[in-house]
Amino acid sequence: MTPTLFHNVKIFEGTKHKLDPGEVLIEGNRITRVATGRHTLPRDQGWDLVDGGGATLMPGLVNAHCHFTYNNAVSLADITALPVEENLLVTLRNAKTYLDYGFTAVVGMASAKPRLELVVRNAVNKGEFPGPRIRACTPEYTVTGGVGDDSRLDRHVPSIGLVCNGVEEFRRSIREMIREGVDIVKFNNAGDSFTLGRLGGEVNPMTEDEVRTICETTLQLGRRVAAHAHADSGVRQCIRYGVEFINHATFATDATIALLAKHAGKHWVIPAIAARYNTTYEAKDWGITEEVATAIGNKRELVEGCKAMTKMHQAGIRVLPFGDYGFAWLPIGQDCRDLEHMVNLFGMKPWEALRAATAYGGEAWAGASGELLGRVKEGWLADLLLIDGDPLQDLTLLQDQRKITMVMKDGQFHRRPAPVESGRRSKA
Ligand SMILES: [Zn+2]
Repeated sequence: MTPTLFHNVKIFEGTKHKLDPGEVLIEGNRITRVATGRHTLPRDQGWDLVDGGGATLMPGLVNAHCHFTYNNAVSLADITALPVEENLLVTLRNAKTYLDYGFTAVVGMASAKPRLELVVRNAVNKGEFPGPRIRACTPEYTVTGGVGDDSRLDRHVPSIGLVCNGVEEFRRSIREMIREGVDIVKFNNAGDSFTLGRLGGEVNPMTEDEVRTICETTLQLGRRVAAHAHADSGVRQCIRYGVEFINHATFATDATIALLAKHAGKHWVIPAIAARYNTTYEAKDWGITEEVATAIGNKRELVEGCKAMTKMHQAGIRVLPFGDYGFAWLPIGQDCRDLEHMVNLFGMKPWEALRAATAYGGEAWAGASGELLGRVKEGWLADLLLIDGDPLQDLTLLQDQRKITMVMKDGQFHRRPAPVESGRRSKA
């Protein structure tokens, strides 16, 4: 493969608070050379030279709480009602949409149907369809009456979750899903305002034995665990049993936050705060006014979640953006709205929000695999974006596909930048 040299770019490395002018060489699927400041790289005839025109070169975005099987519906029931064939088409479209918006890697965080995520992961890996790097998840595991159990006694209603009760049912089902090929097992050890008052987020409906069995079975088979854990007791279980992906963590107490900070290297906290903010303030066209959001407990989750995330960020816990996009008022692809939320609601600096979306996300995606993802660094995988403008000055650029002028995944262009007009060439 022809080496690609990006020049005349400003580099966001993934962990630094500023942009550096520089040049980056890609050979195969890796970043092999990076030069910054006054240094330049040698050129060779036949290389693919890409003039960035002074644009920002940054790592691809990593979404560590992704619902790429959701169809921007109004409710989970609407997603469940989608037949599996149509749902597969939706999932393939979403995979491309994510790549179009600069997401070069995603962690599935509950498949709408058991095999959707893993089937699409396999197809993308074979190059049959465009999409990001994918970690494929189970449907969310739940207990009777928990989040994701939509069944009724009086009629047949399918559930989006896999409903199990007792250790034997969980063990059997998890082994089955791992046999099918999932990377991640997700379970719900908390309620949620989206149960419309049935089971609040502070309640944990699972037994200790069930949670321990879910985690032990998954880890024994070499897969990774994720939890929907609003409740404080649920966050504690995540720390106790090695759950890497702690979603929401809304009602974590100060003592739990202090404990989590001691184990900060082993966990990522993903609040999915847009499912609270946008639902409280921006969903009235779909019947959810601020009054409704308050009545079901959604606004309380927003208020408490923001307090907890602010403390966690200050305590050095890695709080990641994204999560729960895939509903009508949180459409797939607009996930970078979260970066503003992290600045406005958690007190992060823009570069910290962008670090969470790239370098930290890459670590979360890679886990123990050792894959090097999410930074512009020699030896790291060549997942890169060119942004027309400076995202550290304006994070909203990443919500606009026209500003994401180039997307490269694994050293290959998904979208090549248009040739730079001479007038736009910067002096870098
Ligand atoms: Zn979610």
